[in-house]
Amino acid sequence: MEEVSEILKKNGFAFKKKFGQNFIADPNLLEAIVRDAGIDKTTSVLEIGTGAGALTRALSKAANRVISYEIDRSLAPVLAETLAGCENTEVVFGDFMRADLSALESSLGPYAVCANLPYYVTTPVLLRFLEEAKLCQRVTVMVQEEVAARFSAKENTPDYGAITAAIAHRGSCRILRKVPRTMFYPRPNVDSAVVRIDFGGGFEVESERAFRETVKIAFLSRRKTLENNLMNALHIPRERAKELLALAGVKEGVRGETLSPASLGILSNILFENGIL
Ligand code: SAM
Repeated sequence: MEEVSEILKKNGFAFKKKFGQNFIADPNLLEAIVRDAGIDKTTSVLEIGTGAGALTRALSKAANRVISYEIDRSLAPVLAETLAGCENTEVVFGDFMRADLSALESSLGPYAVCANLPYYVTTPVLLRFLEEAKLCQRVTVMVQEEVAARFSAKENTPDYGAITAAIAHRGSCRILRKVPRTMFYPRPNVDSAVVRIDFGGGFEVESERAFRETVKIAFLSRRKTLENNLMNALHIPRERAKELLALAGVKEGVRGETLSPASLGILSNILFENGIL
């Protein structure tokens, strides 16, 4: 097969910054990502952002089946060449954020996500899996290095936030490799990292909705105490906020970002049980 860059040029492909089009071509890196994602001949894979199909092709070789979403239809003639012979692979042209995830899951069965994610939509894509997915086993994605740091941050650090808690609730997160900006074309202004989130082994909560709300409130105003954030967000008097925090075993005067994800889970249960959320 010709070089991917040649195929792009031949087809007159113009990179679109708005779609986060930074492609990878290095075969060693592509194979390393496939290994990081734990893909073998039994795995069904969902990829978001086919691009020129370089990662898709590597996934196709290793996996049982691949479904890959790509928003940019102008890549169709390129992919017809780069994915020729990848019989186990289907490219769906469309915005993944509008895809019917439960219909996709019915077709895929248990699956792994593997993607070099478009940067502008990293968090919303990941939240879809964290909040909606029923059959997703793991997510291995290339993201900006500073976003990777947020995913796996410890409480009481500047990187710790709502997305850290959402990930810890569903499973565990590891940064597997750093990837310098020189590995992409066009070259982005930031370095990247491959992150793997294994679903399962997180903590249970009584209400997913109450947990999401609690996390939002905890990080509402990072400089305010949790007590103040609760009062402002839930329109409850100070005494009631104190009482609820005491029931959740939270010390007085602390800020939301000092609570571990599991403690935020306990607080959400208290707010739910007391009919507040
Ligand atoms: N997988 C390829 C690679 O590694 O070289 C391309 C990765 S590139 C960072 C991200 C790709 O996602 C681009 O091809 C872009 O057009 C596509 N994309 C952007 N937004 C999307 C969306 N909402 N749904 C599906 N694909 C999207």
